Amino acid sequence: MSYQVPSWVQEVFETDKDVLYLLDADLRIMECNLGWDKFAAENGGVGISRVEVLGRNIFEFIPEVLVRFYQDKYAEALRAGHWIGFDYECSTPDVFRQFHMALRSVENSGLLVVNSYLPNQRTPLTAPIEVMDDSLYVSSGGLIAMCAHCRRTRRQENTNTWDWVSRFLRDTGRKVSHGLCPRCTAYLYPDLELPDRKS
Ligand SMILES: [Zn+2]
Repeated sequence: MSYQVPSWVQEVFETDKDVLYLLDADLRIMECNLGWDKFAAENGGVGISRVEVLGRNIFEFIPEVLVRFYQDKYAEALRAGHWIGFDYECSTPDVFRQFHMALRSVENSGLLVVNSYLPNQRTPLTAPIEVMDDSLYVSSGGLIAMCAHCRRTRRQENTNTWDWVSRFLRDTGRKVSHGLCPRCTAYLYPDLELPDRKS
């Protein structure tokens, strides 16, 4: 594989505390730093350690509803020749967390992607909740609908109410359909018409 990590990236890559990865021009994962493995381990990620993802296309790990958003961002970064970025949520069962993703094309080597934790966070609109009776969220087929971006769960009887439910983030064995809540749809796809959109 003729992939060359630029020296200025190499110098900081492995020791950087943020989650860094490099994609080639075909968006295959060519390098991940130690921060990637730490983040995967802390968040219970299965099958996504560095050795397991190297050489695979990044879109194998991106939920369907976010594909167009990331396609646009990667293309924009490859074209731009300077840093571009956006904020996103990745909360744990108990802690509201926001991250910033910065992307930049690197000479002859595709894209460098940097994910940084944002310490000065917005206050979340809702607090995490513990539910005793999960029938509010689980369909008759045993499925829950979770937002692929903010990981809130939709109430069955009200498609516009999405709650941050701790147990659904902890319990990774559930059957989940990934959609987008209206707030994340508006943030990620501002050009999309919202009414009647099924997520
Ligand atoms: Zn959302």
